[in-house]
Amino acid sequence: MHESFKIRDGIWQVQEAKDVYFTIIQGKNKAIVMDTGYGIADNRAYVEQQVTVPYIVMNSHGHPDHTQGNHQFDEVYIHPLDLPAYETSNTVEWRTSTYERLMQPNGLSKEGKEEFVKIVPGKIKTLVPDSVFDLGGLTVRVVELPGHTRGTIGLLVEEERILLAGDAFSQDMWMFADNHDTLETLEKTLTKALSLPFDTYLCGHSIHEIKKEFLYEVRNNVRTKAIDWDSYEVILGKEIYKLRYTGEYGTSLIAIPIQEALAIKEKEEYGFHTMLLHGTGTRGRQLEDSYGSILPPVYQTSAYAHESAESIADVFGKRKTGFNYTRISNPTIAAFEERMTQLEHGIGSVACASGMAAITYALLNILKAGDEFIASAGLYGGTINLLNGFSQFDIKVRYVEPNNWEQLESAINERTKLIFTETVGNPGLIVTDIKKMAEIAHEHNLPLLVDNTMASAFLVRPLEIGADVVINSTSKYVNGTGNSISGVVTDGGSYAWTKERFPQMKPFLVQGSKCYLAKLRSDMLCNHGGCLSPQNAFQNLVGMETLGLRLERECSNALALARHLSKVPGMLVNYPGLETNESYEIAKEQFKNGYGTILTIRVGSWNQAFALMNALKLSFIVSNIGDVRTLVVHPASTMALNSIQQEREDAGVFDDLIRVSVGIEDIDDLIADFDRAIHSIK
Ligand SMILES: *Cc1c(COP(=O)(O)O)cnc(C)c1O
Repeated sequence: MHESFKIRDGIWQVQEAKDVYFTIIQGKNKAIVMDTGYGIADNRAYVEQQVTVPYIVMNSHGHPDHTQGNHQFDEVYIHPLDLPAYETSNTVEWRTSTYERLMQPNGLSKEGKEEFVKIVPGKIKTLVPDSVFDLGGLTVRVVELPGHTRGTIGLLVEEERILLAGDAFSQDMWMFADNHDTLETLEKTLTKALSLPFDTYLCGHSIHEIKKEFLYEVRNNVRTKAIDWDSYEVILGKEIYKLRYTGEYGTSLIAIPIQEALAIKEKEEYGFHTMLLHGTGTRGRQLEDSYGSILPPVYQTSAYAHESAESIADVFGKRKTGFNYTRISNPTIAAFEERMTQLEHGIGSVACASGMAAITYALLNILKAGDEFIASAGLYGGTINLLNGFSQFDIKVRYVEPNNWEQLESAINERTKLIFTETVGNPGLIVTDIKKMAEIAHEHNLPLLVDNTMASAFLVRPLEIGADVVINSTSKYVNGTGNSISGVVTDGGSYAWTKERFPQMKPFLVQGSKCYLAKLRSDMLCNHGGCLSPQNAFQNLVGMETLGLRLERECSNALALARHLSKVPGMLVNYPGLETNESYEIAKEQFKNGYGTILTIRVGSWNQAFALMNALKLSFIVSNIGDVRTLVVHPASTMALNSIQQEREDAGVFDDLIRVSVGIEDIDDLIADFDRAIHSIK
């Protein structure tokens, strides 16, 4: 029986008789981290029962005995020195004999044998001590621990200072310990080298095969320095989790029944509409405000007073979190950023003065003179103007047709630094196959940045299907009522930035998976100054509460209007939700909840387009999208005014084309208005 409990948001510890598993369920890369040990049968059973996510094993000390179950895992991390031993240990013969040995004690069925020996070993990765990498949205540092074989690796979650150690504390560690001062060495390594308080290790335990006296001695030693679970609870602030100390053998003998843990997990995954109101907590944020305000207050202030010189120095010196100046951060803006992070399932967000500022910063954060990048053709006109303007900084953009993978592959060269696309181009309305694009980007070790403005997280979460960074012009659907300009960059924390490819990222790499965001805020936002105003952040916070409701209605209206208009003789309707549309299959696969709120119609000529727009009574003539009101615009004479012919064609702009951003009006009224207008211009 496996038991699991929550250590902190996003980390679950799954406990079974011999080893400790850590499940990282934070961020988009949900993953389970396991310590191998001898628990192959158990691991396998556990995986089959519980795990629907990638799983990673830390073969914390690369003893070949401990590699026996590694073929089950998606990723196996071992100490570099152990690679040769590991490789030989995974031979078929070896595994066959392992199987024979394991069959008895673990009761594996005979039928499993053939399958067992055939399974390809998991992907082996060596972890270089001191390197930092991203694990399921957490920044972890690889630490070298003393061990009974050549070495032991542990993963340190730096921000939390929790060590996800493998066997560092488990019975065999002590049993085979090369010397008896291991504990002391361990403490020295961890306390001195990592400045990690000794009481924050979470580690394995065991209750078998060990001389009680020895174990007691060691465990007592550990326990005297062990976690005070009461205070740990306070640190975690998790009043609902009862951490029980259930045994006498070690610090980590705590458990809550798995049902309880899973129930808690379920509760965390709220539905979209609930999440918009409550985030991932309960009762929204009201408990965080001393007056019980149901919305985050508007902190309309430029700067923040500190109680002492030390305090402000600590915030500047990043020894303490806090606020100094609203250009860099502000509590109202931070609340909005947090909501956007939850919405897009990212690890963090930076809000900017506009969608354009967000795109500019997202790109310039990682591009420099001499670099190239690839963008889908047919992007939002403002973005095309921006990207073309990068040439003055010696940054070159190469456009490729949406979903043309050969073109994409052949545009990549050694100067390419990133790939940029929109979820849906506009007004061409071609839906990007983000999954496929991400695969290609990642094959070439490039990050994929996606402008998700046209869809919003209600329809697509690009970070969940492979994108690394997502950008939203929140002036559109997130705000929803057309009252503020703003934009947000949300990082999925999935891309492994390196100083080799991105030298300008070097000073920020210590931040691990948060390095992109750290640079975005303290370099781009702070130095370029395009910050959001607290008032606009507040408008967005109010607006986004109804994002799901509005979009549900807007999408169903758009589909009904598109279906209706496609029956009008001579009218060409483009809407990804129509079965006959070229993007229908991708949209069906990739979109949840609807096909978007934008459709376009071609009415025969420039003059006809103007006449129809003028005859509509309910649609506002506005060059915007994502409003609760239905908006119409003639792209050829407005947004595409400065585009060259090729750019117009790529963007799907035609002289007779009208773009309709469908609102929440009663659909019968909208249809009647279009029918009447069409009739009147005939
Ligand atoms: C509107 C829009 C932008 C620009 O956003 P602003 O908030 O207007 O600066 C960028 N991308 C897309 C797809 C847009 O629709």
